[in-house]
Amino acid sequence: MTYALVLHGGAGARPGTDYTKQKAHLDGLITAGQAKLIDGQSALDVVTWAIEELESSGLYVAGKGSAPHSLGGFELDASLMHGPNRRAGAVAAIEGIQSPIRAAQVVLNDGRHVMLAGAGAQHAAKSAGLAQINDPEAYYTEHVSHGSADSANHGTVGAVALDIRGELAAGTSTGGTFGKLVGRVGDTPIIGAGTWADDTVAVSCTGLGEAFIRTATAYDVSARMRYAGTPLKQATLQVLDEVAKFDGDGGLIAIDAQGNISMPYNSDGMKRAAVSDTMPPVVRVFEPEI
Ligand code: ASP
Repeated sequence: MTYALVLHGGAGARPGTDYTKQKAHLDGLITAGQAKLIDGQSALDVVTWAIEELESSGLYVAGKGSAPHSLGGFELDASLMHGPNRRAGAVAAIEGIQSPIRAAQVVLNDGRHVMLAGAGAQHAAKSAGLAQINDPEAYYTEHVSHGSADSANHGTVGAVALDIRGELAAGTSTGGTFGKLVGRVGDTPIIGAGTWADDTVAVSCTGLGEAFIRTATAYDVSARMRYAGTPLKQATLQVLDEVAKFDGDGGLIAIDAQGNISMPYNSDGMKRAAVSDTMPPVVRVFEPEI
């Protein structure tokens, strides 16, 4: 029985910050997610569940932990992709919805479009009965503990999974970069940039979104594997080199169809956790790649 699950809580980790709470949270999630996969739950369901948990914890710059944009409001991005059929759903600059990843799931399940933005995304999420935020000022309080409000500060959450039927899925959700301009959309909701899943690999990225868009990072992992026969680990390292060429830092998590895992980063650290049928749960922030 082959399965694998990897989670990230963003590559904006700053040395000197205490991530004890995040590590404990990731530890609980990776173990619970492992049980779900062993139980036969689908990769898509486990990825969506894990990201909603990461969003609602307030411990990362996504969902409840999101930081405000330059005018003080909160616009969030998220996307979800199912490998076997490349069904995908994304929301960009969505406001007033507690779980952007559930909103992305609504778009995916509806199937007519891949991405909804702004008021349209919000309308679709509301119509589907998703929980709303009535008082954003009161709801989004946790970002204060994430550090300084300079634009280099950022964070995101993501998950990739391979289930016991051999299906891959990926998802990503973010509050974006601190102090971003109103209407700015990063890589997170862009299929092929921040998120990708096909029958070769599932990828979720985190980092300075503009560089990830410019290099189509998530899709590029798959392209290198499929066109050049590059193994997963090398492909993920190569795409991060491309990101660096465009002054980007960050990281990504990826699982291939054989259950191999890669989770490299070129920033100071990346909150991450992984488990597979051949590897017990691991949780890391600054420690080197496994
Ligand atoms: N990639 C996200 C964005 O640019 C931020 C991050 O991952 O930290 O919106």
